[in-house]
Amino acid sequence: MLRARRNGRNLDEFFCPNEACSDYRKKGKGNIVLKEHYGKQNTALLRCKTCKKTFSEKRGTPFFR
Ligand SMILES: [Zn+2]
Repeated sequence: MLRARRNGRNLDEFFCPNEACSDYRKKGKGNIVLKEHYGKQNTALLRCKTCKKTFSEKRGTPFFR
């Protein structure tokens, strides 16, 4: 599986925030991909390949500051 990295971000640190997803809160599954960046802070928009939902890196990482 292709592992996307950008700006030093390791997508393995992110997990799917969708409770209905079978990969919910599972890290390092390779289901999280970088979709695009948006906004002034260049926030990464991530996508879960399992449930096809998109979410921002901020929302997806409540324990990561
Ligand atoms: Zn998901």
